[in-house]
Amino acid sequence: MNYNVDKKGYYGDFGGAFIPEMLYSNIDKLKESYLKITNESDFKKEFNDLLKSYVGRPTPLYFAKRLSRKYNAKIYLKREDLCHTGAHKINNTIGQILLAKRLGKNRIIAETGAGQHGVATATVCALMDTECVVYMGELDVKRQAPNVARMKMLGAEVRPVVSGSKTLKDATNEAIRDWINNPINTHYIIGSVVGPHPYPDMVARFQSVISEEIKIQLQELEGRDYPDHLIACVGGGSNAAGLYYHYLDDDRVNIIAVEAAGKGIDSGKSAATSALGKEGIIHGSKTLLMQTEDGQITEPYSISAGLDYPGIGPMHANLFRTKRAEFISIPDQEAMNWGLNLSKMEGIIPAIETAHAFAVLDIKKFNLNDVVVFNCSGRGDKDLDTFINYFQL
Ligand SMILES: *Cc1c(COP(=O)(O)O)cnc(C)c1O
Repeated sequence: MNYNVDKKGYYGDFGGAFIPEMLYSNIDKLKESYLKITNESDFKKEFNDLLKSYVGRPTPLYFAKRLSRKYNAKIYLKREDLCHTGAHKINNTIGQILLAKRLGKNRIIAETGAGQHGVATATVCALMDTECVVYMGELDVKRQAPNVARMKMLGAEVRPVVSGSKTLKDATNEAIRDWINNPINTHYIIGSVVGPHPYPDMVARFQSVISEEIKIQLQELEGRDYPDHLIACVGGGSNAAGLYYHYLDDDRVNIIAVEAAGKGIDSGKSAATSALGKEGIIHGSKTLLMQTEDGQITEPYSISAGLDYPGIGPMHANLFRTKRAEFISIPDQEAMNWGLNLSKMEGIIPAIETAHAFAVLDIKKFNLNDVVVFNCSGRGDKDLDTFINYFQL
């Protein structure tokens, strides 16, 4: 069994490129050139140099002593929260801006929900002196004021989107519309392993540096280069894809994906796509998504804006359908509690997205001395207001 993308851009039944005709030439060009360009030695050198000197890689693989003692396993945290801009997202935006440059594109567009991908994109555009337009739902512009301010400081233009529910999926639609109107000079930096082929594979490859480093780090720390369990939260699924990438076809490794159950799977207010989703097409790719009987996309909900997406990337839809990965959904309340637990037990304040993953410790029993690696996808600074209001701090 091979869980990676095939030549046609599919992961099993999922993936592909379902796009308007106006985008054919852009997507075709990307499809033809992304592997060739990213395998060139000058690309690799520039990418790796920036990951090292600008992003701060390799990120540590930290042995969490107190958690390990309490849960009777060897628990490690991959510290993506220590990346520049506070999360894993910049691994992808660095890769894509270098690719855009080589494709001769001098204008970048992006969509953003919570603003994390918008900030990571605005950051690399400043770094590379490139025009940057970020589409963001009007509701999110109001909810995520600090990230809007960051993007503006970084020189990006933030365009509020007033259509639909004024959130992430509407911002994505607007970014696609912009690309259709500006196909020549513009590259669209998608922020997760979603969208038409080759985006899911391209983003997974840029994020795969996470598991590439873990292999080396575990070899040093444990004398073997693989863990027993890998655990990550899944919004679109890019941090998870990076964590799983080099272990997808290694059946010694158990893979766990954590989605947001919001106020409960059956409450109508959740983002538990694997539990509730059906096959459909969203943003150019065939995948699992939350929809009504007649195929209208259901509005997702999670207290963490980064998990608040009605679909999952096609790689994850396939991991779910083939049962290669175990999917668990965690409600707001447990995630918030784990935001506090991790802070108090390890001195690490996680993003609320990340905190969802740790709540698995209350559900799963591991064998004594199992090696468990959590992806610590981001830091909690951006969520301070939510923590303050929730816990009356
Ligand atoms: C954006 C984000 C996520 C969710 O996105 P994925 O593509 O699923 O990784 C998770 N954690 C943090 C900290 C984020 O910023």
